[in-house]
Amino acid sequence: MSSVPVLWLVIPCYNEEEVLPYTAPEFLKHLEKLTDDKKISEESKILFVDDGSSDRTWKIITDLSERDSRYKGIRQSRNRGHQNALLAGLMEAIDKCDITISADCDGQDDLNVMGEMVDAYKDGCEIVYGVRACRQTDTWFKRNSARAFYKLMNRMGANVVFDHADYRLVSNKVLKSFSCFTEVNVFLRGIFPLVGYKSTSVYYERRPRKAGKTHYSIKKMIEFSLDGIFNLSTKPLHIIVFLGATISLFGAIGVIWMIVANMSGKTMAGSASLAWVAFFMGGVQIFCTGIIGEYVGRTYLETKRRPRYIISERTGEELGDELSDSPDSSKSGKS
Ligand code: UDP
Ligand code: MG
Repeated sequence: MSSVPVLWLVIPCYNEEEVLPYTAPEFLKHLEKLTDDKKISEESKILFVDDGSSDRTWKIITDLSERDSRYKGIRQSRNRGHQNALLAGLMEAIDKCDITISADCDGQDDLNVMGEMVDAYKDGCEIVYGVRACRQTDTWFKRNSARAFYKLMNRMGANVVFDHADYRLVSNKVLKSFSCFTEVNVFLRGIFPLVGYKSTSVYYERRPRKAGKTHYSIKKMIEFSLDGIFNLSTKPLHIIVFLGATISLFGAIGVIWMIVANMSGKTMAGSASLAWVAFFMGGVQIFCTGIIGEYVGRTYLETKRRPRYIISERTGEELGDELSDSPDSSKSGKS
């Protein structure tokens, strides 16, 4: 660990032409402040990852990098989602810096706590999680649904840091270990706790977006949380086993009771109640098959080993060589 670490800020951007002109100078201002305070090296950079935007985002990034060499950019060949964009940026930064800090590009993450993050790194922490101290700027629905998702995920065995999204400092040592996690479906906030190493949290207030609008609808948020559960844990399968065993037990008790009732001359009434039982059991079976299907589908996608991201352009560089990442190539770091 060098005493003045080189920091790379990794910022995923998707169709952010409205907000980037405001937040890019903010990132630079904070980088300069940390450099002036001698917390980070002058070699530090801001790496924007354009996640296949269809607006002027890439043009803004290339203009920025021409104006100031501390701005860098990579572009994905198409939109692959926040997690893969961030992954591409982290793999790009591997071995080029001592630490990375990932943050959203919309100004919601309070950059003032970056100094605290770097201090924690200097105190020996390899991962520093940015945790939201309050969510007053979120709507009541977003605040409570997000909390419910965190609870559900933890109950389901996907251990994520409560109220931590993807604002975090990660050392190069952790990045190297993380690059051995080669799953195609990535859920970064759940993987980093699995990597291990000494970690801590810093607390900040989540701010409203400076401009533009969120890419996460309620539907996407639910899908994202389910992704987290299915990617990180097999607990739902254990619950199915338990559910099946419990229902079988009740069924067995019912059968014994029916035989005893029959032998004592009582007839059982109610074909309607039988229909409800059949409905209920049908529902339970389809639900359980669906959960198993989620795992089978994910296993199928994992076996294909498709690239997790493809970089089509870099700022300050002619498009050239083989730039794609596959789970195997990521093991040896990026070109
Ligand atoms: N993002 C991305 N690819 C996507 C969607 C989002 O790189 O497909 C980026 C986006 O530009 C932002 C970050 O991910 O920097 C978080 O997205 P957003 O602000 O829409 O999410 P929210 O903060 O509302 O949960
Ligand atoms: Mg946001």
